[in-house]
Amino acid sequence: MSNINKQKIVDSVPQKGFFGHPKGLFTLFFTEFWERFSYYGMRAILVYYMYYEVSKGGLGMDQTLALSIMSIYGSLVYMSGIIGGWLADRIFGTSKAVFYGGILIMFGHIALAIPGNITLFFVSMVLIVLGTGLLKPNVSTVVGDMYAENDNRRDAGFSIFYMGINLGGFISPLIVGSLMGVSFHLGFGIAAIGMFVGLVMFVLTKKKNLGLAGTTVANPLSPAERKKVFTYIGLGIVVIAVICAIAIPNGYLTFETFVNLIGILGILIPTMYFIVMYRSKKTTSVERSRLIAYIPLFIASVMFWAIQEQGSTILANYADKRTQLDFAGIHISPAWFQSLNPLFVIILAPVFAWLWVKLGKKEPNIPQKFSLALLFSGLSFIVILLPAYFGGTDSLVNPLWLVLSYLICVLGELCLSPVGLSATTKLAPAAFSAQTMSLWFLSSAAAQAINAQIVKFYTPATEMAYFGTVGGASLVLGIILLMLAPKIQGYMKGIR
Ligand code: GLN
Repeated sequence: MSNINKQKIVDSVPQKGFFGHPKGLFTLFFTEFWERFSYYGMRAILVYYMYYEVSKGGLGMDQTLALSIMSIYGSLVYMSGIIGGWLADRIFGTSKAVFYGGILIMFGHIALAIPGNITLFFVSMVLIVLGTGLLKPNVSTVVGDMYAENDNRRDAGFSIFYMGINLGGFISPLIVGSLMGVSFHLGFGIAAIGMFVGLVMFVLTKKKNLGLAGTTVANPLSPAERKKVFTYIGLGIVVIAVICAIAIPNGYLTFETFVNLIGILGILIPTMYFIVMYRSKKTTSVERSRLIAYIPLFIASVMFWAIQEQGSTILANYADKRTQLDFAGIHISPAWFQSLNPLFVIILAPVFAWLWVKLGKKEPNIPQKFSLALLFSGLSFIVILLPAYFGGTDSLVNPLWLVLSYLICVLGELCLSPVGLSATTKLAPAAFSAQTMSLWFLSSAAAQAINAQIVKFYTPATEMAYFGTVGGASLVLGIILLMLAPKIQGYMKGIR
């Protein structure tokens, strides 16, 4: 998209009206609030739904399998962002992508709300994977579209938006987690209602608040390209269908091969993405340099999210199996621990925003913030190995250990996540704007693809080694990144 077009979009959005930010931020804040409400509500109980016995309303799956599925699911949810980003950039624009995505997500949660069988469970996964791929990266791109290139409210805008995400993520596990004892399906039903409310909000307020933002197609397909692309897509679908038709009945496509396949895709897709963007004629030389700077940031982001996302898999399991749930006179639902991460984000995001301003010239640059994130995430895993170190793995652990671990990880998240969202919109080559946002989410996809491989190493007997190795890897990467920070900053060509 040319700079003139970008400016036209900015001019069409009422520039004030939501905490001194463009009015459209209200619409995007609440759309994403409800989408995350539904997503994190569902994730807070899904893991238990999978491995709880049938007599307790669960599906009675093997526990390691359930943890692995959670990671693969999380990976696919973010991987599908490349489809969502591509469709938005080249076919229908970000606003429509958000709308279609919301519809698919809502039906996904409805499928889980219907008491049924494993088929409905997988149907729901497909719908939510595709729907989130359409909605999540695109709603974030529209946030960036509302600000002029040099508007210094952009970072704060993303921080406010990040609050919306986390408000949704905070409230829903509390509600849905309380209901899971009654019925898992009731909990999933609440998630569906949440997405419905989000969709209504989006549709009712977008025209007035978002102006042209999200309505243009950044890099539309030419008729010739269109023909070629649709032929390739058709062929691709046929090839995949044939492979499945041969592989599944003959037992070649086991869950293990699928996990491995996602693991490979998790690394391969972002690599190809970088290559295509780097080599595109539409990418300028300054943008190329910025793409180079983005690579180490991307790797750091993978490491960070690998730990952060284990909050809803390994640590969720730790909450269920290793933690005293009768504490201070109340019975705690293990799902409630999922509210801790967003709660700390909400409390601490303003503190961090204040801190960065307060530090002024001493504010760490983007690569330095990313390395801090890795140091914190590493530390959060070191902390959670301590209860086993002091007390062994036979007795139940005081829940405050988990609280502390989540808290430390959030300190890292606030150095990386809002910063990364904003940096992505700044570092993106213009022709790939929505797709670069998908690239950012591919770091979460790659992280969880790796998690799906490593969860099998987590058992009570290996608990300390597990947390120590993963946490240690993060600490080491954090130190390396800190040393490389000045060089990376140079490649960013003036972006701060
Ligand atoms: N918790 C944040 C969100 O849902 C970040 C997720 C991610 O990027 N992995 O947006």
